[in-house]
Formats: sequence, C-alpha cells, structure tokens
Amino acid sequence: FQSKPTAGRHFLQIPGPTNVPDRVLRAMDNPTMDHRGPDFGRLGKAVLEKVKAVFKTQGHVVIYPASGTGAWEAALVNTLSPGDRVLMCETGWFAHLWHEMATRLQLVPDYIRTDWRRGADVAAIEAKLREDKSHSIKAVCVVHNETSTGATSRIDEVRKAMDAAGHPALLLVDTISSLASIDYRHDEWGVDVTVSGSQKGLMLPPGLSFNAVSEKALKASETAKLPRAFWDWKPMIAANATGYFPYTPATNMLYALDAAVDMLLEEGLDNVFARHDRHAEATRRAVRHWGFEIQCLDPRHYSSSLTAVRLPEGHSANALRATILEKFNMSLGNGLGQLNDRVFRIGHLGDFGDLQLVGTLGGVEMGLKAAGIPHKAGGVLAAMDYLNGNA
Ligand code: PLP
Repeated sequence: FQSKPTAGRHFLQIPGPTNVPDRVLRAMDNPTMDHRGPDFGRLGKAVLEKVKAVFKTQGHVVIYPASGTGAWEAALVNTLSPGDRVLMCETGWFAHLWHEMATRLQLVPDYIRTDWRRGADVAAIEAKLREDKSHSIKAVCVVHNETSTGATSRIDEVRKAMDAAGHPALLLVDTISSLASIDYRHDEWGVDVTVSGSQKGLMLPPGLSFNAVSEKALKASETAKLPRAFWDWKPMIAANATGYFPYTPATNMLYALDAAVDMLLEEGLDNVFARHDRHAEATRRAVRHWGFEIQCLDPRHYSSSLTAVRLPEGHSANALRATILEKFNMSLGNGLGQLNDRVFRIGHLGDFGDLQLVGTLGGVEMGLKAAGIPHKAGGVLAAMDYLNGNA
C-alpha cells in the first residue's frame, strides 16, 4: 500500500496512534524469533519487569497482543460476575464505549453523566458509593484521559472519594491515552486494574495492550464468574513467570516495547510529563489566541496529551481537517460521537518536540485561513512565546 505521494514528512497529529521514534522502529526490525526459545524467555522476562516502572507498580503487568479494547474487556471479565453493578462516568466517547461493553457483558452499570466538557465527577462517585450501603457496586470504572474531549480525570481524588465512602469496590482505570504522557501511579493511587495500550504515550505502533493488576484484583479474579479464555490472567501470569506467554506473543512489538521503555526512563518520567504539560499549555495559548473554545472547561482537568478545539457554530471541523490533510499533509483527530464535526483534536503526545508542535500549530493556522474560518492570526506566535519563556 502506498499513500498519496507528498513531499516532506506526514504530520501524524491525531491523539494516537502517535509517531514512532526511529529507535523503536529499528528495535522492531529484528528477525522474528522462536517464542518458545531461550532468547525469547530472556526478552520476555526483561520487558515484563521493565514496563512496571511506567505504570508505577510492583505488581503484575499483563501484556496482550490486542488493541486497547481487548484490555478493557480483560479488566472486566477477570474481576466481575454477570449481574454485578459497576459505577461508570460518562466523560466522553471512550467512557461511552466502555459502558456499552460492560452492558454487553451482562454487567449492570450505574452511569454518572457529564456534559463531555470535564473529567469524572468525583463528588457524584462518592455520593453513589455512600448510598450503596450493601456494597453491591463491585467496581468503579474511570477513563483517566478522555481522548474524545481532552479531559483528564483526577484518579487520586477518585481514590480518596472511595476511601472516604469506605467502599470496597475495585478501581479500574483506562490510561490508554495518558500512560507515559500524564502522571499516573497505579500502586500509590490504589488502582486495581490499569488498562493501557501501546499506540499513544508508549510511542509504539498499535497492537499491544496492558492490564496492571493489584493483589486485590487478582483475588477477585479467583471468584469472578464472567466467561474468559483468551483474556484470562491466570495462564498468562503463570507463563510470564519464566518470560513466556500462553499463546504466541507479538514478538517484534516486545522488542519495540523494550526500546520505548528505555527511552522513557532515560528521559525520566517526570521530564516526560513536564514536556507534555508544556506542549499542552502552548497549544491552549494558540487556541485561545485564534479565538476558539477549548472543549474541556475545567482547567484542573486539562489534558496534557491532546487538546480538543471547538469551532464556532456553523463551521465544519471535518472540512477543516480535510483541508489540512489535503494541503499540508497533516492528520488531526476528528470529533467523536456527539462531537462529530464540532471539534477537532490536536494530539501533542508521544515522541514530540517543540518544532513538531510549532509545525503542527502552523498547519492548523494555515488551514484555518485556507478553510475560511474566522480567527485571529498569530496563535503560533503565542505558542512560540510561551515555549521560549518556559524552556
Ligand atoms: N480508551 C481510550 C481512552 C482510547 O483513547 C482508546 C482509543 O483511542 C480506546 C480506549 C480504545 O482503544 P483501541 O482503539 O486501541 O482498541
């Protein structure tokens, strides 16, 4: 397959899949190996251990050859039983999809609605848990970074709310678009299952997904009754003890994961988070300068991995994205669900530096002009000023 030939490099600025660094691509470029042989055992053991640092956990991290949706399902089917109540927060499109999945798996979600312009409502979570005197709610499920809106929920506060309510539910968190981009602490925040995927902050192609699993979640899996086979943690964790998998792992993706985690740890996770915070703030300054609204209304929930931008009424975000792709060879994220055509999303996560951000914002600003969308020129300069003043 050959995409339309265009001079210069394509700008892949959707909020994942993200740009894969050359070092990671080179790491994948190894001969495919015997996944039952001794070399694989060494690679498997090393990478299963190393990846824990990114989740900030000492516990098990299960790696599936699957997209993030598979890891969502794994989190639910390993810990819950048909008819279990789960508390979910509708922060946007991805929370909606997880909710739909839970329903299809015969779980019974309690759904806390939002206007898709902020993170999870922690007070509402606490109130629901306090009402549940019989502890029939078995899990609280939160999307840490809602990729459809650019709102990041406060998992530390969710944990505190659960503790304040004295409720024993499991805490399941989707970090598919936050892991390795936004501060996240599986053990410290008492998360029971962290769900993640390879194609965003981890800077890998799509194809791997993850469950970080607490001791409490492991214990729950011993009695959970939802049917599971491919997603079952038990044979996975047993095989992982010697570095192997119960079925064929994505061998070359594991070489890539090994290299990507090395890159993240060499930069230092705190530096990685600060880099994302800085690019997100520069992006918001450009957006405000252009005169547009940021989809997330609560500054405490601003996402550092992407910014969703609302266009003024009567202007098509899809037409703008099409113009930018056609003229400048850059892909931006589309609006999902109720936000279709209302917002476009700028991904500023993963392997990303200042000049890529300036190029990205330059493409947006030129696209706004080309598409005839009224705006105040100079957003890119506002972003550059911020970057210069906050090196
Ligand atoms: N959850 C979030 C927050 C996501 O951003 C995505 C994908 O973008 C998913 C879940 C679904 O993951 P996947 O498309 O890899 O199955």
